[in-house]
Amino acid sequence: MSAYDTATQEGTDDRPITGPHTELNKYDRPTGATYWRCEACGIEAIQRDDVEAECTCVRGGK
Ligand SMILES: [Zn+2]
Repeated sequence: MSAYDTATQEGTDDRPITGPHTELNKYDRPTGATYWRCEACGIEAIQRDDVEAECTCVRGGK
């Protein structure tokens, strides 16, 4: 731990990315897969990183 270590993280966590959600098939049965979704733009992906990559509602990015 250094006195200079401010450990700031850019505000990517402001996006309402939720998950992991259980993926359901057409019979509403869990498929065993999970996915993440940005509630603001509706983008869904298996990996949260992919949602973050696709999501356009970045803070201050208007
Ligand atoms: Zn988004």
